[in-house]
This record gives sequence, C-alpha cells and structure tokens, in this order.
Amino acid sequence: MVNIEFSMENIKKCLCMKCPVQIKSQCVKDKQKIMLLIKNQDLDSPMMMGPDRVHVLYCSTGKATCNDIDTNQICKCNQCTIWNQKSLKNNIPNRYFCKNGKTH
Ligand code: SF4
Ligand code: SF4
Repeated sequence: MVNIEFSMENIKKCLCMKCPVQIKSQCVKDKQKIMLLIKNQDLDSPMMMGPDRVHVLYCSTGKATCNDIDTNQICKCNQCTIWNQKSLKNNIPNRYFCKNGKTH
C-alpha cells in the first residue's frame, strides 16, 4: 500500500500540469488560474487548494473532476520523480491516475 502525500512539495514534482491528456481541457485551464492565485498568496498552504481545486497529483487524490480531459493521449507519470521513487509501476493502477483513480 502506497500513499502519496498531498503536499506542495509533491505538487511541484508532479508532471500532470504538462501532460497532453489535460493540456487542452478548458476545465483544467480554469482550475489552473485558481491554483496559481492560491500559490502566489501562500506557498505553504496545499490544503487551501483542496484536491477538488487542483488538477495535479492524481496518484494521491484520485480521478480527475474535469471530464473534458483526453485520456487517449500519453500519460507522463512514468517520467515523474515520485513515480520512480515510490515504484508506482508496481501498483494498480500504475498510470493514468486521472482516469483510473489513486494508487494503492
Ligand atoms: S495522471 Fe498521467 S495521464 Fe493523468 S494527467 Fe497525470 S500524467 Fe497525465
Ligand atoms: S505519478 Fe503521475 S500523478 Fe503522480 S505525481 Fe507523478 S505525474 Fe503526478
């Protein structure tokens, strides 16, 4: 059982923000604006963001709340430091956490 902490440190390492699966999503773009606003106000408050307000770290929070993402594109998780350090490739699900839910 692996739990990925929902922290600012991990949010910064996550590659979801640059992933082609969600890069064209309008819903994600809107969330991104909110996230940047919160980040600029207080760098140490990941909880202020809340999992429903962010569009990253799906391995920790579970499925995406935006439904206009394109999961036919290629997931970037296997290039991620957290994925490698926590050996998420051995878990189920092991990628596409935005579609398949959080790792466990
Ligand atoms: S979980 Fe994978 S597919 Fe989903 S947004 Fe993140 S990198 Fe992309
Ligand atoms: S494994 Fe995927 S969802 Fe988890 S932090 Fe890395 S890029 Fe983000």
